[in-house]
Amino acid sequence: MYKDNTVAVVGLGKSGLSAARALKEGGADVLVWDDRADARDDAQKAGYQLAAPDTYDWSGDAPAALVLSPGIPLTHPQPHPAATAAGIHGIPVLGDVELLYRACPRARYIGITGTNGKSTTTALIGHILTSTNRTVEVGGNLGTPALDLAPLDADGIYVLEMSSYQLDLTHSVAFDSAILLNVTADHLDRHGGMDGYIAAKKRIFRNQGGETAAIVGVDDNHCDAVATALEDNGHTVIRLSVTQPVEYGVYIADGKLIDAMTDDPIAVLDLNDAPALPGLHNAQNIAAAYAATRREGLSPAEIRDGILTFPGLAHRLETVAVEDGIRFVNDSKATNAEATARALASFERIYWIAGGREKEGGYDVLRPYLPAVRKAFLIGEAADNMAAALSKSLEVEICGTLQRAVEQATALAMAEGVRGSAVLLSPACASFDQFPNFEIRGTAFTEAVADTLRHRREHR
Ligand code: ADP
Repeated sequence: MYKDNTVAVVGLGKSGLSAARALKEGGADVLVWDDRADARDDAQKAGYQLAAPDTYDWSGDAPAALVLSPGIPLTHPQPHPAATAAGIHGIPVLGDVELLYRACPRARYIGITGTNGKSTTTALIGHILTSTNRTVEVGGNLGTPALDLAPLDADGIYVLEMSSYQLDLTHSVAFDSAILLNVTADHLDRHGGMDGYIAAKKRIFRNQGGETAAIVGVDDNHCDAVATALEDNGHTVIRLSVTQPVEYGVYIADGKLIDAMTDDPIAVLDLNDAPALPGLHNAQNIAAAYAATRREGLSPAEIRDGILTFPGLAHRLETVAVEDGIRFVNDSKATNAEATARALASFERIYWIAGGREKEGGYDVLRPYLPAVRKAFLIGEAADNMAAALSKSLEVEICGTLQRAVEQATALAMAEGVRGSAVLLSPACASFDQFPNFEIRGTAFTEAVADTLRHRREHR
Protein backbone atom coordinates (compact mmCIF):
# COMPACT_ATOMS: atom_id res chain seq x y z
CA MET A 1 0.00 0.00 0.00
CA TYR A 2 1.53 3.26 -1.15
CA LYS A 3 5.01 1.73 -1.20
CA ASP A 4 7.62 4.49 -1.62
CA ASN A 5 4.86 7.12 -1.66
CA THR A 6 4.24 9.76 0.94
CA VAL A 7 1.00 9.42 2.87
CA ALA A 8 -0.28 11.85 5.49
CA VAL A 9 -2.18 10.38 8.44
CA VAL A 10 -4.19 12.95 10.33
CA GLY A 11 -5.82 12.04 13.62
CA LEU A 12 -3.76 9.76 15.83
CA GLY A 13 -6.38 7.85 17.76
CA LYS A 14 -6.50 4.07 17.78
CA SER A 15 -7.40 3.73 14.10
CA GLY A 16 -5.06 6.51 12.91
CA LEU A 17 -2.09 4.97 14.68
CA SER A 18 -2.87 1.54 13.31
CA ALA A 19 -3.13 3.04 9.80
CA ALA A 20 0.22 4.80 10.24
CA ARG A 21 1.81 1.56 11.40
CA ALA A 22 0.36 -0.50 8.55
CA LEU A 23 1.40 2.05 5.93
CA LYS A 24 4.92 2.25 7.31
CA GLU A 25 5.21 -1.53 7.34
CA GLY A 26 4.05 -1.52 3.72
CA GLY A 27 6.92 0.76 2.76
CA ALA A 28 5.17 4.14 2.60
CA ASP A 29 6.72 7.36 3.89
CA VAL A 30 4.29 8.35 6.60
CA LEU A 31 3.72 11.90 7.81
CA VAL A 32 1.44 12.29 10.80
CA TRP A 33 -0.53 15.01 12.50
CA ASP A 34 -2.91 15.42 15.38
CA ASP A 35 -4.26 18.68 16.77
CA ARG A 36 -3.33 17.44 20.26
CA ALA A 37 0.31 18.19 21.15
CA ASP A 38 0.69 15.09 23.36
CA ALA A 39 -0.43 12.81 20.51
CA ARG A 40 2.13 14.49 18.23
CA ASP A 41 4.88 14.05 20.81
CA ASP A 42 4.08 10.36 21.20
CA ALA A 43 4.10 9.90 17.42
CA GLN A 44 7.44 11.66 17.08
CA LYS A 45 8.88 9.46 19.81
CA ALA A 46 7.66 6.46 17.82
CA GLY A 47 9.72 7.73 14.88
CA TYR A 48 7.11 9.45 12.72
CA GLN A 49 7.69 12.73 10.93
CA LEU A 50 5.12 15.48 11.38
CA ALA A 51 3.02 16.67 8.45
CA ALA A 52 3.12 20.43 7.75
CA PRO A 53 0.71 21.55 10.42
CA ASP A 54 -0.69 25.06 10.05
CA THR A 55 -0.64 25.60 6.33
CA TYR A 56 -0.87 22.08 4.92
CA ASP A 57 1.01 23.74 2.11
CA TRP A 58 1.55 20.69 -0.01
CA SER A 59 1.80 22.50 -3.31
CA GLY A 60 5.39 21.46 -3.93
CA ASP A 61 5.40 17.96 -2.59
CA ALA A 62 1.88 16.73 -2.02
CA PRO A 63 1.33 13.36 -0.35
CA ALA A 64 -0.24 10.65 -2.50
CA ALA A 65 -3.11 10.29 -0.05
CA LEU A 66 -4.51 11.71 3.14
CA VAL A 67 -5.68 9.10 5.63
CA LEU A 68 -8.14 10.77 7.92
CA SER A 69 -9.34 9.35 11.17
CA PRO A 70 -13.13 9.05 11.40
CA GLY A 71 -13.08 11.40 14.38
CA ILE A 72 -11.99 14.33 12.21
CA PRO A 73 -14.53 16.50 10.42
CA LEU A 74 -14.46 16.04 6.67
CA THR A 75 -17.21 18.55 6.00
CA HIS A 76 -19.22 19.55 9.08
CA PRO A 77 -19.34 21.67 11.15
CA GLN A 78 -16.37 22.74 9.06
CA PRO A 79 -13.71 20.75 7.28
CA HIS A 80 -10.45 20.14 9.07
CA PRO A 81 -7.67 22.20 7.38
CA ALA A 82 -6.01 18.98 6.23
CA ALA A 83 -9.20 17.93 4.40
CA THR A 84 -9.48 21.38 2.83
CA ALA A 85 -5.87 21.23 1.69
CA ALA A 86 -6.40 17.75 0.25
CA GLY A 87 -9.37 19.10 -1.70
CA ILE A 88 -7.30 21.96 -3.10
CA HIS A 89 -4.48 19.68 -4.17
CA GLY A 90 -6.70 16.89 -5.47
CA ILE A 91 -5.39 14.37 -2.94
CA PRO A 92 -7.66 11.40 -2.18
CA VAL A 93 -8.95 11.32 1.40
CA LEU A 94 -9.28 7.79 2.73
CA GLY A 95 -10.15 5.89 5.87
CA ASP A 96 -8.62 2.73 7.27
CA VAL A 97 -11.34 0.43 5.92
CA GLU A 98 -10.57 1.63 2.40
CA LEU A 99 -6.91 0.74 2.97
CA LEU A 100 -7.85 -2.68 4.33
CA TYR A 101 -10.01 -3.38 1.30
CA ARG A 102 -7.21 -2.49 -1.06
CA ALA A 103 -4.75 -4.65 0.87
CA CYS A 104 -7.07 -7.69 1.07
CA PRO A 105 -9.33 -7.53 -1.99
CA ARG A 106 -10.06 -11.27 -2.15
CA ALA A 107 -11.65 -11.61 1.27
CA ARG A 108 -15.39 -11.33 1.81
CA TYR A 109 -16.76 -8.22 3.49
CA ILE A 110 -19.85 -7.74 5.63
CA GLY A 111 -20.47 -4.09 6.61
CA ILE A 112 -22.92 -2.96 9.26
CA THR A 113 -24.26 0.55 9.73
CA GLY A 114 -27.32 2.30 11.19
CA THR A 115 -27.97 4.71 14.04
CA ASN A 116 -28.38 1.98 16.66
CA GLY A 117 -27.51 -1.69 16.96
CA LYS A 118 -24.30 -1.65 14.92
CA SER A 119 -22.04 -3.07 17.61
CA THR A 120 -24.50 -5.71 18.73
CA THR A 121 -25.13 -6.88 15.18
CA THR A 122 -21.43 -6.85 14.31
CA ALA A 123 -20.51 -8.88 17.38
CA LEU A 124 -23.41 -11.27 16.83
CA ILE A 125 -22.45 -11.95 13.21
CA GLY A 126 -18.84 -12.46 14.29
CA HIS A 127 -19.95 -14.90 16.97
CA ILE A 128 -22.23 -16.91 14.68
CA LEU A 129 -19.58 -17.23 11.96
CA THR A 130 -16.83 -18.07 14.43
CA SER A 131 -18.93 -20.77 16.04
CA THR A 132 -19.12 -22.56 12.69
CA ASN A 133 -15.34 -22.33 12.28
CA ARG A 134 -15.32 -19.77 9.52
CA THR A 135 -12.19 -17.63 9.30
CA VAL A 136 -13.47 -14.30 10.59
CA GLU A 137 -12.04 -10.95 11.65
CA VAL A 138 -14.36 -8.56 13.50
CA GLY A 139 -13.68 -4.86 13.99
CA GLY A 140 -13.90 -1.42 12.43
CA ASN A 141 -15.74 1.17 14.46
CA LEU A 142 -16.12 -1.49 17.18
CA GLY A 143 -13.08 -2.79 19.01
CA THR A 144 -10.11 -3.56 16.80
CA PRO A 145 -9.33 -0.94 14.11
CA ALA A 146 -9.52 -2.31 10.55
CA LEU A 147 -5.78 -2.27 9.93
CA ASP A 148 -5.03 -4.18 13.13
CA LEU A 149 -7.11 -7.11 11.86
CA ALA A 150 -5.30 -10.09 10.38
CA PRO A 151 -4.96 -10.17 6.60
CA LEU A 152 -7.51 -12.52 5.03
CA ASP A 153 -7.72 -14.30 1.70
CA ALA A 154 -10.70 -15.58 -0.29
CA ASP A 155 -11.74 -18.01 2.45
CA GLY A 156 -11.90 -15.27 5.10
CA ILE A 157 -14.69 -12.89 6.10
CA TYR A 158 -14.31 -9.39 7.51
CA VAL A 159 -17.22 -8.25 9.65
CA LEU A 160 -16.92 -4.48 9.95
CA GLU A 161 -18.96 -2.02 11.95
CA MET A 162 -19.12 1.14 9.85
CA SER A 163 -19.96 4.52 11.36
CA SER A 164 -21.26 7.15 8.98
CA TYR A 165 -17.94 8.97 9.44
CA GLN A 166 -16.06 5.90 8.26
CA LEU A 167 -18.40 5.48 5.31
CA ASP A 168 -17.55 9.03 4.23
CA LEU A 169 -13.95 7.82 3.91
CA THR A 170 -14.51 4.68 1.83
CA HIS A 171 -14.50 4.77 -1.96
CA SER A 172 -13.85 1.44 -3.67
CA VAL A 173 -15.15 -0.90 -0.94
CA ALA A 174 -17.90 -3.22 -2.24
CA PHE A 175 -19.50 -5.09 0.65
CA ASP A 176 -20.70 -8.59 -0.16
CA SER A 177 -23.44 -7.98 2.39
CA ALA A 178 -24.13 -4.39 3.42
CA ILE A 179 -26.49 -3.90 6.35
CA LEU A 180 -28.38 -0.69 7.14
CA LEU A 181 -30.32 -1.30 10.36
CA ASN A 182 -32.16 1.97 11.01
CA VAL A 183 -31.78 5.73 10.76
CA THR A 184 -32.84 8.25 13.37
CA ALA A 185 -31.60 11.73 14.28
CA ASP A 186 -28.10 11.36 15.72
CA HIS A 187 -24.77 12.91 14.74
CA LEU A 188 -26.64 15.34 12.52
CA ASP A 189 -24.11 18.06 13.34
CA ARG A 190 -21.33 16.13 11.61
CA HIS A 191 -23.28 15.57 8.40
CA GLY A 192 -25.05 18.89 7.99
CA GLY A 193 -28.54 17.57 8.68
CA MET A 194 -30.61 14.47 8.01
CA ASP A 195 -30.05 14.36 4.24
CA GLY A 196 -26.29 14.38 4.68
CA TYR A 197 -26.53 11.72 7.36
CA ILE A 198 -28.64 9.40 5.19
CA ALA A 199 -26.38 10.05 2.22
CA ALA A 200 -23.39 8.92 4.32
CA LYS A 201 -25.23 5.79 5.48
CA LYS A 202 -26.21 4.95 1.90
CA ARG A 203 -22.56 4.87 0.93
CA ILE A 204 -22.44 1.39 2.45
CA PHE A 205 -24.20 0.17 -0.73
CA ARG A 206 -21.82 1.86 -3.16
CA ASN A 207 -20.08 -0.37 -5.70
CA GLN A 208 -22.44 -3.24 -4.94
CA GLY A 209 -23.46 -5.45 -7.84
CA GLY A 210 -23.37 -9.06 -8.97
CA GLU A 211 -23.72 -11.41 -6.04
CA THR A 212 -23.89 -8.75 -3.32
CA ALA A 213 -26.90 -7.99 -1.14
CA ALA A 214 -28.30 -4.91 0.57
CA ILE A 215 -29.84 -5.89 3.91
CA VAL A 216 -32.12 -3.10 5.10
CA GLY A 217 -34.29 -2.65 8.20
CA VAL A 218 -37.50 -1.17 6.80
CA ASP A 219 -39.26 -0.26 10.06
CA ASP A 220 -38.40 3.43 9.74
CA ASN A 221 -39.48 5.53 6.80
CA HIS A 222 -36.00 6.68 5.87
CA CYS A 223 -34.66 3.15 5.48
CA ASP A 224 -37.82 1.93 3.80
CA ALA A 225 -37.30 4.59 1.14
CA VAL A 226 -33.64 3.60 0.82
CA ALA A 227 -34.65 -0.05 0.27
CA THR A 228 -37.05 0.87 -2.51
CA ALA A 229 -34.50 3.13 -4.19
CA LEU A 230 -31.86 0.38 -4.06
CA GLU A 231 -34.24 -2.11 -5.60
CA ASP A 232 -35.09 0.33 -8.36
CA ASN A 233 -31.36 0.54 -9.01
CA GLY A 234 -31.06 -3.21 -9.44
CA HIS A 235 -29.65 -4.18 -6.00
CA THR A 236 -30.67 -7.44 -4.38
CA VAL A 237 -32.50 -6.17 -1.30
CA ILE A 238 -33.19 -8.29 1.78
CA ARG A 239 -35.72 -6.50 3.99
CA LEU A 240 -35.87 -6.80 7.78
CA SER A 241 -38.91 -5.96 9.86
CA VAL A 242 -39.92 -6.54 13.45
CA THR A 243 -43.44 -5.20 12.87
CA GLN A 244 -44.77 -6.81 9.70
CA PRO A 245 -44.10 -9.62 7.25
CA VAL A 246 -41.84 -8.82 4.30
CA GLU A 247 -41.95 -10.47 0.93
CA TYR A 248 -38.25 -11.26 0.65
CA GLY A 249 -36.23 -11.04 3.84
CA VAL A 250 -36.44 -11.76 7.56
CA TYR A 251 -39.22 -10.69 9.91
CA ILE A 252 -40.67 -11.27 13.35
CA ALA A 253 -44.14 -12.72 13.90
CA ASP A 254 -45.58 -13.96 17.20
CA GLY A 255 -42.19 -13.66 18.86
CA LYS A 256 -40.54 -15.85 16.23
CA LEU A 257 -37.84 -15.11 13.69
CA ILE A 258 -39.17 -15.94 10.22
CA ASP A 259 -36.90 -16.59 7.25
CA ALA A 260 -38.71 -15.39 4.14
CA MET A 261 -35.67 -15.69 1.90
CA THR A 262 -36.99 -19.08 0.79
CA ASP A 263 -40.08 -19.99 -1.20
CA ASP A 264 -41.88 -21.08 1.95
CA PRO A 265 -41.13 -18.88 4.97
CA ILE A 266 -39.79 -20.88 7.93
CA ALA A 267 -39.80 -20.10 11.67
CA VAL A 268 -36.19 -20.34 12.78
CA LEU A 269 -36.16 -19.31 16.40
CA ASP A 270 -38.33 -18.31 19.34
CA LEU A 271 -36.92 -14.96 20.52
CA ASN A 272 -37.70 -15.82 24.15
CA ASP A 273 -34.94 -18.41 23.91
CA ALA A 274 -32.32 -15.66 23.43
CA PRO A 275 -32.23 -13.79 26.79
CA ALA A 276 -28.89 -12.09 26.06
CA LEU A 277 -30.65 -10.16 23.28
CA PRO A 278 -33.81 -8.79 24.92
CA GLY A 279 -36.35 -6.50 23.29
CA LEU A 280 -37.70 -5.93 19.80
CA HIS A 281 -34.75 -3.72 18.90
CA ASN A 282 -32.49 -6.73 19.37
CA ALA A 283 -34.86 -8.74 17.20
CA GLN A 284 -33.90 -6.37 14.40
CA ASN A 285 -30.22 -7.07 15.08
CA ILE A 286 -30.88 -10.83 15.14
CA ALA A 287 -32.78 -10.62 11.85
CA ALA A 288 -29.89 -8.75 10.24
CA ALA A 289 -27.34 -11.24 11.54
CA TYR A 290 -29.49 -14.11 10.29
CA ALA A 291 -29.72 -12.68 6.79
CA ALA A 292 -25.99 -11.93 6.58
CA THR A 293 -24.83 -15.31 7.88
CA ARG A 294 -27.36 -17.23 5.78
CA ARG A 295 -25.74 -15.54 2.80
CA GLU A 296 -22.39 -16.93 3.93
CA GLY A 297 -23.85 -20.41 3.45
CA LEU A 298 -24.68 -21.27 7.07
CA SER A 299 -27.75 -23.41 7.69
CA PRO A 300 -30.70 -22.06 9.72
CA ALA A 301 -29.81 -24.54 12.49
CA GLU A 302 -26.20 -23.37 12.64
CA ILE A 303 -27.29 -19.76 12.84
CA ARG A 304 -29.86 -20.55 15.52
CA ASP A 305 -27.17 -22.22 17.67
CA GLY A 306 -24.92 -19.18 17.20
CA ILE A 307 -27.66 -16.76 18.26
CA LEU A 308 -28.51 -18.82 21.34
CA THR A 309 -24.90 -19.01 22.52
CA PHE A 310 -24.21 -15.26 22.05
CA PRO A 311 -23.18 -13.86 25.44
CA GLY A 312 -24.29 -10.24 24.78
CA LEU A 313 -22.25 -7.06 24.87
CA ALA A 314 -21.06 -5.00 27.81
CA HIS A 315 -22.77 -1.61 28.39
CA ARG A 316 -25.82 -2.55 26.29
CA LEU A 317 -28.71 -3.63 28.51
CA GLU A 318 -26.11 -5.56 30.48
CA THR A 319 -27.35 -6.97 33.79
CA VAL A 320 -24.56 -6.18 36.25
CA ALA A 321 -26.26 -7.30 39.49
CA VAL A 322 -29.49 -8.77 40.83
CA GLU A 323 -30.41 -8.15 44.47
CA ASP A 324 -33.70 -9.11 46.14
CA GLY A 325 -35.26 -9.64 42.72
CA ILE A 326 -34.21 -6.18 41.50
CA ARG A 327 -32.09 -6.08 38.38
CA PHE A 328 -29.32 -3.50 37.88
CA VAL A 329 -28.84 -2.79 34.20
CA ASN A 330 -25.99 -0.95 32.49
CA ASP A 331 -27.10 0.54 29.18
CA SER A 332 -24.44 3.27 29.11
CA LYS A 333 -24.14 2.82 25.35
CA ALA A 334 -27.60 4.38 24.92
CA THR A 335 -26.29 7.84 24.03
CA ASN A 336 -29.44 9.06 22.30
CA ALA A 337 -33.15 9.09 23.07
CA GLU A 338 -34.04 6.36 20.53
CA ALA A 339 -31.68 3.87 22.13
CA THR A 340 -33.04 4.76 25.56
CA ALA A 341 -36.60 4.29 24.30
CA ARG A 342 -35.67 0.70 23.46
CA ALA A 343 -34.33 0.19 26.96
CA LEU A 344 -37.39 1.69 28.64
CA ALA A 345 -39.54 -0.65 26.54
CA SER A 346 -37.64 -3.66 27.89
CA PHE A 347 -38.67 -3.46 31.59
CA GLU A 348 -41.93 -3.04 33.47
CA ARG A 349 -40.95 -0.94 36.48
CA ILE A 350 -37.91 1.24 36.11
CA TYR A 351 -35.79 3.42 38.39
CA TRP A 352 -34.20 5.30 35.56
CA ILE A 353 -30.83 7.05 35.65
CA ALA A 354 -30.31 9.42 32.72
CA GLY A 355 -28.47 12.53 31.60
CA GLY A 356 -25.01 13.63 30.50
CA ARG A 357 -24.16 15.81 27.54
CA GLU A 358 -27.31 16.55 25.63
CA LYS A 359 -27.88 15.31 22.06
CA GLU A 360 -30.05 16.97 19.45
CA GLY A 361 -33.52 15.63 18.92
CA GLY A 362 -35.17 16.15 22.32
CA TYR A 363 -36.94 13.52 24.38
CA ASP A 364 -40.32 13.20 22.69
CA VAL A 365 -39.63 9.66 21.50
CA LEU A 366 -39.44 8.60 25.16
CA ARG A 367 -42.95 9.71 25.97
CA PRO A 368 -44.79 6.43 25.16
CA TYR A 369 -42.42 4.55 27.48
CA LEU A 370 -42.57 6.81 30.51
CA PRO A 371 -45.46 4.95 32.20
CA ALA A 372 -42.97 2.16 32.98
CA VAL A 373 -40.69 4.61 34.79
CA ARG A 374 -41.27 4.85 38.53
CA LYS A 375 -38.88 7.80 38.91
CA ALA A 376 -36.03 9.44 36.97
CA PHE A 377 -32.68 10.25 38.59
CA LEU A 378 -30.95 12.86 36.46
CA ILE A 379 -27.25 13.61 36.14
CA GLY A 380 -24.85 15.82 34.24
CA GLU A 381 -25.33 18.87 32.03
CA ALA A 382 -28.65 17.73 30.59
CA ALA A 383 -30.36 17.26 33.96
CA ASP A 384 -32.23 20.59 34.03
CA ASN A 385 -33.48 20.34 30.46
CA MET A 386 -34.49 16.72 30.90
CA ALA A 387 -36.32 17.58 34.11
CA ALA A 388 -38.15 20.39 32.29
CA ALA A 389 -39.06 18.07 29.42
CA LEU A 390 -40.16 15.10 31.51
CA SER A 391 -41.38 16.32 34.88
CA LYS A 392 -45.00 16.75 33.76
CA SER A 393 -45.29 13.02 33.13
CA LEU A 394 -42.80 11.78 35.66
CA GLU A 395 -41.34 12.17 39.13
CA VAL A 396 -37.76 13.41 38.71
CA GLU A 397 -34.83 14.11 41.01
CA ILE A 398 -31.69 15.98 39.99
CA CYS A 399 -28.77 14.01 41.41
CA GLY A 400 -25.71 15.60 39.77
CA THR A 401 -23.34 12.67 39.88
CA LEU A 402 -23.78 9.09 38.76
CA GLN A 403 -22.73 7.81 42.20
CA ARG A 404 -25.47 9.80 43.91
CA ALA A 405 -28.05 8.73 41.32
CA VAL A 406 -27.19 5.07 41.90
CA GLU A 407 -27.52 5.52 45.66
CA GLN A 408 -30.86 7.28 45.40
CA ALA A 409 -32.32 4.93 42.79
CA THR A 410 -31.18 1.86 44.73
CA ALA A 411 -32.60 3.19 47.99
CA LEU A 412 -36.03 3.78 46.45
CA ALA A 413 -36.07 0.52 44.49
CA MET A 414 -35.12 -1.48 47.59
CA ALA A 415 -37.58 0.38 49.82
CA GLU A 416 -40.43 -0.32 47.41
CA GLY A 417 -39.14 -3.87 46.94
CA VAL A 418 -41.05 -4.82 43.78
CA ARG A 419 -39.45 -7.94 42.35
CA GLY A 420 -38.72 -7.73 38.63
CA SER A 421 -38.12 -3.99 38.67
CA ALA A 422 -34.93 -2.51 37.25
CA VAL A 423 -32.45 0.16 38.25
CA LEU A 424 -31.45 1.20 34.77
CA LEU A 425 -28.66 3.46 33.54
CA SER A 426 -29.77 4.44 30.04
CA PRO A 427 -28.58 8.02 29.69
CA ALA A 428 -30.07 9.21 26.33
CA CYS A 429 -27.01 11.52 26.34
CA ALA A 430 -23.32 11.45 25.54
CA SER A 431 -20.93 10.89 28.42
CA PHE A 432 -18.35 13.58 27.71
CA ASP A 433 -19.43 16.10 30.35
CA GLN A 434 -18.49 13.73 33.17
CA PHE A 435 -16.65 10.74 31.63
CA PRO A 436 -14.10 10.21 28.85
CA ASN A 437 -16.40 7.74 27.05
CA PHE A 438 -19.48 5.53 27.49
CA GLU A 439 -17.44 2.50 28.51
CA ILE A 440 -15.92 4.32 31.48
CA ARG A 441 -19.37 5.68 32.41
CA GLY A 442 -20.78 2.12 32.30
CA THR A 443 -17.93 0.77 34.40
CA ALA A 444 -18.46 3.61 36.91
CA PHE A 445 -22.13 2.59 37.11
CA THR A 446 -21.25 -1.05 37.68
CA GLU A 447 -18.80 -0.09 40.43
CA ALA A 448 -21.26 2.31 42.06
CA VAL A 449 -23.88 -0.45 42.10
CA ALA A 450 -21.45 -2.90 43.69
CA ASP A 451 -20.43 -0.30 46.31
CA THR A 452 -23.98 0.70 47.11
CA LEU A 453 -25.15 -2.90 47.48
CA ARG A 454 -22.14 -3.80 49.63
CA HIS A 455 -22.77 -0.80 51.85
CA ARG A 456 -26.43 -1.71 52.24
CA ARG A 457 -25.59 -5.30 53.18
CA GLU A 458 -23.07 -4.12 55.77
CA HIS A 459 -25.63 -1.79 57.37
CA ARG A 460 -28.60 -4.09 57.39
P1 ADP B 1 -24.29 1.13 18.02
O1 ADP B 1 -23.01 0.39 17.88
O2 ADP B 1 -24.98 1.37 16.72
O3 ADP B 1 -24.23 2.36 18.85
P2 ADP B 1 -25.18 -0.87 19.97
O4 ADP B 1 -25.38 -2.25 19.50
O5 ADP B 1 -23.94 -0.58 20.71
O6 ADP B 1 -25.33 0.12 18.74
O7 ADP B 1 -26.43 -0.41 20.83
C1 ADP B 1 -26.52 0.94 21.27
C2 ADP B 1 -27.78 1.19 22.02
O8 ADP B 1 -28.88 1.11 21.14
C3 ADP B 1 -28.05 0.19 23.12
O9 ADP B 1 -28.45 0.93 24.23
C4 ADP B 1 -29.19 -0.67 22.64
O10 ADP B 1 -30.09 -0.96 23.66
C5 ADP B 1 -29.85 0.16 21.56
N1 ADP B 1 -30.13 -0.66 20.37
C6 ADP B 1 -29.47 -1.78 19.99
N2 ADP B 1 -29.94 -2.25 18.82
C7 ADP B 1 -30.92 -1.41 18.43
C8 ADP B 1 -31.78 -1.35 17.28
N3 ADP B 1 -31.73 -2.27 16.31
N4 ADP B 1 -32.67 -0.33 17.22
C9 ADP B 1 -32.72 0.61 18.19
N5 ADP B 1 -31.95 0.61 19.29
C10 ADP B 1 -31.04 -0.39 19.42
